[in-house]
Amino acid sequence: MITANARATFSPEGPFKLTTIERRDLEPHDVLIEIKYAGICHSDIHTARGDWGPVNYPLVPGHEIAGFVTQVGSEVTKFVVGDRVGVGCMVDSCRECNNCRKGVEQYCLNGMTGTYAAIDRYGQYTQGGYSTHIVVTEDFVVRIPDGIELDAAAPLLCAGITTYSPLRHWGAAPGKKVAVVGLGGLGHMAVKFAHAMGAEVTVLSQTLKKKEDGLRLGADHYYSTSDSETFKILAGSFDLIVNTVSAEIDLNAYLSLLAVDGTLVNVGAPSEPLPVHVFSLIPHRRSFAGSAIGGIRETQEMLDFCAEHHIVPEIEVISANQIDEAWERVLASDVRYRFVIDISTMANE
Ligand SMILES: [Zn+2]
Ligand SMILES: [Zn+2]
Repeated sequence: MITANARATFSPEGPFKLTTIERRDLEPHDVLIEIKYAGICHSDIHTARGDWGPVNYPLVPGHEIAGFVTQVGSEVTKFVVGDRVGVGCMVDSCRECNNCRKGVEQYCLNGMTGTYAAIDRYGQYTQGGYSTHIVVTEDFVVRIPDGIELDAAAPLLCAGITTYSPLRHWGAAPGKKVAVVGLGGLGHMAVKFAHAMGAEVTVLSQTLKKKEDGLRLGADHYYSTSDSETFKILAGSFDLIVNTVSAEIDLNAYLSLLAVDGTLVNVGAPSEPLPVHVFSLIPHRRSFAGSAIGGIRETQEMLDFCAEHHIVPEIEVISANQIDEAWERVLASDVRYRFVIDISTMANE
């Protein structure tokens, strides 16, 4: 067993405390990663607080992991000691079902293994990246290109791939009009990606508070959704709307903004069902869809795309003793645009 320092929450209410966790000894295809940075994702909070179902405590969240390989198993072929690597939302899948074979392991028919709060194939409860070390099978580890700093790389492993994948799938490209709902951790990445893919990008945000930011990040237009005029002006105009908001929205109003054959894809996950009027879809052959992260191959492609196009998230680096405070700020939407924990501060008071 390998002992790692970690920050864990011992109840839904927290707070985080310094603790130690055990990582398995390396199997032949495992790599040991010394974690340097871990991003804070809104879903860490939902999961730890039990919003999405009961979890075990202590819980170490974190599925935006960046670090170095410090040890490799006897049959590892993809990595050597010293490689800069990342781990995202999953650490394993069955690898045999149709979806795994197609490279969409996130949709594994037998259920992918989450990086934390899941039971892995060894029967162990997985613990995430708010820790100094993690052991992961090489097939679920991606390479971080040299051009991307490790702190900025971390949020790409969830916020990055979650927005990159639907933009690619629904063909964001020159000549396409893409709207991004919400300019938070996910939304700001969606704007950067859609812009780099050549689409005309519009941000739809409750207020115009972050308009300057949005335009700087690559948006061509910025509208307030609390202004009802917005829905009149933009009716029938978008090929793709990426909804990053997990709070409830008036879906039918947003669907009315889609052009013929347009798609509204949800990457935010509201806990309550959303009412969709079928007549919001029929007249313009519109689609309402969902999308979850991306496969391992696509995650690597996304990282390479970021290096090529000089795309990195906007981050605020914090020390490990500031996690509770950072979570409160995430809940208050007071972050531009992603918190990243400096893991070298793990044992600090
Ligand atoms: Zn996440
Ligand atoms: Zn599978």
